[in-house]
Amino acid sequence: MADQAPPFSRIVANLPAAVPFVPPEELERKTGVKVRLRLGANESSFGMSPLAREAMENSLGENHLYGDALSLDLKMELATRHGIATEMITVAGGIDELLGWIARVFLNPGDPVTASLGSYPTFHYHVEGFGGRLHKVPYRGGKNDLDALAETARNTGSRIVYLANPDNPTGTWFTAAELKEFRRQLPADCLLLLDEAYLEFAPAAAHLPLDPADPGVIRTRTFSKAYGMAGLRIGYAFAQREIITAFDKIRNHFGVSRIAQIGALAALQDERFLQHVVEEVAAGRREYETLAETLGFAAYPSATNFVAIDTGDADRAAAIQDALWQRGVFIRVPGVAPLNRCLRVSVGTPGERQEFARILRKVMAEL
Ligand SMILES: *Cc1c(COP(=O)(O)O)cnc(C)c1O
Repeated sequence: MADQAPPFSRIVANLPAAVPFVPPEELERKTGVKVRLRLGANESSFGMSPLAREAMENSLGENHLYGDALSLDLKMELATRHGIATEMITVAGGIDELLGWIARVFLNPGDPVTASLGSYPTFHYHVEGFGGRLHKVPYRGGKNDLDALAETARNTGSRIVYLANPDNPTGTWFTAAELKEFRRQLPADCLLLLDEAYLEFAPAAAHLPLDPADPGVIRTRTFSKAYGMAGLRIGYAFAQREIITAFDKIRNHFGVSRIAQIGALAALQDERFLQHVVEEVAAGRREYETLAETLGFAAYPSATNFVAIDTGDADRAAAIQDALWQRGVFIRVPGVAPLNRCLRVSVGTPGERQEFARILRKVMAEL
């Protein structure tokens, strides 16, 4: 018998051993702190639609069955709402899973990819996991630098450009007109991966109209954020038919649970609830902006369910994050400069916001 595990693939053997995502549960176990305010993962404090909840409760007895491997009911509902064919939609266990499919479908080992430095890390993680080579473009003035992203994509011959609109971790957004111009600047054979995890929170001007004639765009959406269903793991993507067919060659066909399909379908029916969440979140963002101002900080303009508060200094942000954690407040500080000066705080309920403001003020007075 061999005394070592069989060799890993070259790609995996060369990946760093670090675990990229440390959840608050693990931080609790490691530090002995109990989380009181969970505002670091942009989960929805407003929960999910009561219609979705009821539909899922009524379906508990069906869960010895797999879900429909095609998620056809959900696709048909999405197709009707967006005026496109069901063949242009795929459903997955959240955007995070979709990002993996996209890297796998479009990349050969060594292929170049462009994304912003410090942008959503799960995309970077999947690109590296499939052997792609990331070219990272710094944020400029607190926003994705569209001109530099397009230039890097052209200069490197990138296969994929990743852009979150609205963005995480800044919360900022671009208009449809700006996105169209960006698309025009990209090489024709480069995929634009538009991650729209927060689109429901964004003003109408940020909604790029679907263009079925443009084969080079994938748009990813999720039930995790505005719909408040992060733990159910369900999201979807719009893309050209050939791309959806390519996903079918490699995807985990039973990866979406039946209960998630049922919950998502019901959630789409409850537009009033979604509207309520969007309004509550907008009010919460304004509160955070005011809070930031009173502490002498600037808040990035946000079209998401979180606000990035710029403390002006990375060490200060780290010290505040630490002091907040000691008091049971979970927020995030982005890992890369210059965004590592920011506290990224999810919009909580009015009660959570009040508690957060009270604790943050206390921390600032003590530091
Ligand atoms: C939260 C988030 C996701 C994750 O979505 P899931 O559907 O829960 O996997 C993807 N992209 C961005 C930019 C996010 O902030």
